[in-house]
Amino acid sequence: MTEWRIDSLLIGELYLPHGGAIQRDPVHVWLARDGTRNVLIDSGMAEIEHITKRLKVKGWGGGHAKLTELLAGEGLTPADIDHVVLTHGHFDHAENLDLFPDACVVIQRDELSHAADPVPSQRVFYWQSTIGNLVARRRPGQIRTLDGDAELFDGFRVLKVPSHTPGMQVPLIRTSKGIVAIASDLGDHYRYWFPADARATDYPQRSLSDAFITGNIRSESERDWQAAMRRVQLASDIVVPAHDFRIPKKIPEEWFAIPESTEGDLAHVPPDMSSF
Ligand SMILES: [Zn+2]
Repeated sequence: MTEWRIDSLLIGELYLPHGGAIQRDPVHVWLARDGTRNVLIDSGMAEIEHITKRLKVKGWGGGHAKLTELLAGEGLTPADIDHVVLTHGHFDHAENLDLFPDACVVIQRDELSHAADPVPSQRVFYWQSTIGNLVARRRPGQIRTLDGDAELFDGFRVLKVPSHTPGMQVPLIRTSKGIVAIASDLGDHYRYWFPADARATDYPQRSLSDAFITGNIRSESERDWQAAMRRVQLASDIVVPAHDFRIPKKIPEEWFAIPESTEGDLAHVPPDMSSF
């Protein structure tokens, strides 16, 4: 029975306006290895200079050099990556694909079409550099489009969970300690998954003890998004949100369903942090 290990690699940060404050959003990619395959989950963001220019958002990191450096830290080069599984096509999850011309990119067919013709509020999140790379992948070994849930490898499957985007998919990966869900932007901070638990946030919302908090960048209804989160939670032992500082960095050595403290949940950093 194949068991995987997963490393969370921090490629950069974005500083986003959030309710009158600034939220520091770390941007991750994940490296999943079973001893044979090297699978990258998401390919991260472009260099921060491009993001600042296009979206007026500050931060640090991103780009080919940073991603190559992170892989080198794991003893790999981009050529060693055989598959890139994209949770969705947004600019902070699916850039840098030209580093992996011979890897097989795995994406939901609905996400590919949404990338070309998004709902209007999401047009700025799908970049030409991502779309151009995806449609230029002509060889069967360079791209695999999925129509729903799929088992990609032994111990590694994806659930299609329309919510944040129509073709959102969440990898469920078997490790020696249980099933890990790389939840991505289906619930990108712990507080969305565990709103009633004070450890998830400084502002626990106990009235939502039997529900999740969903995001405001969405393509689907609140009901569909709630159902998608429930589905992922029931199918996994721990969830790993995309943009929370407290996620386990080495899985399964680090293993928790929810962090022990709120330290590092920077949802409400006040705007007077002058360097931002
Ligand atoms: Zn997104």
